[in-house]
Amino acid sequence: MKFDILTLFTGMFSGPFDESIIKRAKDKQLIDISLHNIRDWATDRHQTVDDAPYGGSAGMVMKAEPLSACIESIKAQQPESTVVLTSPHGRRLNHSVALELTERSGLIIVCGRYEGIDERIRSLYAEDDISLGDFVLSGGEIAAMAIVDSVTRLIPGALGSSESAESDSFGDGLLEYPHYTRPPDFKGLTVPETLLSGNHELIRKWRRKESLRKTRTLRPDLLSNVTLTREDRKLLTEIEQEEASGM
Ligand code: SAH
Repeated sequence: MKFDILTLFTGMFSGPFDESIIKRAKDKQLIDISLHNIRDWATDRHQTVDDAPYGGSAGMVMKAEPLSACIESIKAQQPESTVVLTSPHGRRLNHSVALELTERSGLIIVCGRYEGIDERIRSLYAEDDISLGDFVLSGGEIAAMAIVDSVTRLIPGALGSSESAESDSFGDGLLEYPHYTRPPDFKGLTVPETLLSGNHELIRKWRRKESLRKTRTLRPDLLSNVTLTREDRKLLTEIEQEEASGM
């Protein structure tokens, strides 16, 4: 998968994209990331990328011409890639959006700064618009990193055999069960006995039940979108009974 990122701050990406899973996915050539400095596409002497908004008000707006030239040059080489804007107005990034994005051959991600980009860039080029949530970031770079990271994890082969995207939260529509590692007793809190039993079937069932419990408690909205098995319904009944009896 090809990621082209358009930004005024290419240096921001050097840490997050040079470590761990993203680095490994690049080394395995599962993904290819190119950073493009929008300023390189400004044609005036001062390499201007922003200007005052029409109609007045505080702040600056990212100019259309450098962005347009940059997008068109990348699109000419990769016509199949999808142009994705980052903005608080976009659709919220979640597991199913990330999964959907893995189907594209490439993403051209535009990182805004200041008050945002000239609206005509949206009209002319935007094929998708993604938001991290209902808050305002200082720029689209962190959103672009979140998109690249969440999409890459879902590309087959990106995670090692000991890691799994399916059992991760949202992979099967539920939040993941709780994890424990040594020591068995930490500050008086012990590890659930089933996990120490070595009985794989009991452990599987315990994890499923705790996954259902966590989802029911923290994100009940997710449960309505999951196809529950007979076992799931039985486990949920047990959870309800345990809660009713104050266990
Ligand atoms: N003035 C705009 C916010 C601009 S913030 C408004 O009020 O709607 C500058 C840039 O940061 C945006 O162009 C976008 O690229 C990025 N950004 C800000 N919040 C974001 C969010 N929640 N999700 C994704 N990108 C965001």
